[in-house]
Amino acid sequence: MKVAFFSTKSYDKQSFNEFLPDHNHEFTYFEPKLDSNTAALAEGHDAICSFVNDHLDERVLTKLSEMGVKNVVLRCAGYNQVDLEKAEELGFKICRVPAYSPEAVAEHALALIMTLARKTHKAYNRVRENNYSLEGLTGFNINGKTTGVIGTGAIGKAFCKIMLGIGCEVIAYDIKENEELKELGVRYLPLDELLTQSDIISLHCPLNSDTYHLINKQRLAQMKGGVVLINTSRGALIESKAVIQALKTKKVGNLGIDVYEQEEDLFFQNRSEEILQDEDIARLMTFPNVLITGHQAFLTKEALSQISATTFRNLEELEAGAELTNEVKKNK
Ligand code: NAD
Repeated sequence: MKVAFFSTKSYDKQSFNEFLPDHNHEFTYFEPKLDSNTAALAEGHDAICSFVNDHLDERVLTKLSEMGVKNVVLRCAGYNQVDLEKAEELGFKICRVPAYSPEAVAEHALALIMTLARKTHKAYNRVRENNYSLEGLTGFNINGKTTGVIGTGAIGKAFCKIMLGIGCEVIAYDIKENEELKELGVRYLPLDELLTQSDIISLHCPLNSDTYHLINKQRLAQMKGGVVLINTSRGALIESKAVIQALKTKKVGNLGIDVYEQEEDLFFQNRSEEILQDEDIARLMTFPNVLITGHQAFLTKEALSQISATTFRNLEELEAGAELTNEVKKNK
């Protein structure tokens, strides 16, 4: 298949090129993200390969459909960026990579917690300036804390196991309980109870109409004072303005986010020479107890390799007209 690859980064190209010699596909790597202005680049291709911030909305899908490009391979797990109703109406076939090293994301959530707990990001800078003062570096133990996990699918499950290993009490909320986790000692609770009991809360559910602004003013009010809130899932699970208020009142004691509600026009680019226009992220960056990474939780060698392998498998199935193992459908 001729594949138009959008939002290309050097690490994508490197990882996918390693697999290309074993497959009969031709890739055109485009740096721009997919939107209604760039969709025309897909002309003459059989499929597009897109990432989390490539929007497959009605306009883009209509343009692609007019060009006869109706195969989409998402090189990510989440598919909230796709208008599935329109895609189905236009006859698109859409596949994703449902799980690629869930441990990569779970371990990044742990990295955020550990960094916030022990302030290693501050210690690193201090020591490099020959400053060995320990003032202001008092941390807290993670062992013995109650960790609340919202969403115990592939990533949430890996995260629960890590936190059990550290010696946390792990409580969870999911619309579907996981028996294996229960046997390991994870207690499922209603969301309200999880919010009031957790010292650390980590979000691992998908973004959809039920979970949009799951963490809002009311839910933040239910949390323990000084709670550690971690989001490696999707930015809009947290209402940014509400969490800023909760940081100001110290309700949220630490915030670690790899995803941000308005990340779409911000992340995955070097913007160091630009004037930052986004007031919310600018405010978030002023808090000493906020740690932000730019959607890198997935970025390990192992995960990139898995993403490439599964995407090639998805392409093979699409080309063969075979049953699609990783098809994304409306209400699925
Ligand atoms: P998954 O589908 O395996 O698990 C999601 C879990 O959330 C399921 O158990 C599901 O039942 C649960 N869930 C659904 N709706 C819920 C609700 N309303 N309340 C509570 N739980 C709910 O997905 P996953 O592979 O574990 O990934 C989770 C999310 O992580 C993805 O949707 C994606 O947005 C995000 N993600 C982020 C990165 C990153 O780099 N930061 C990488 C991969 C995935």
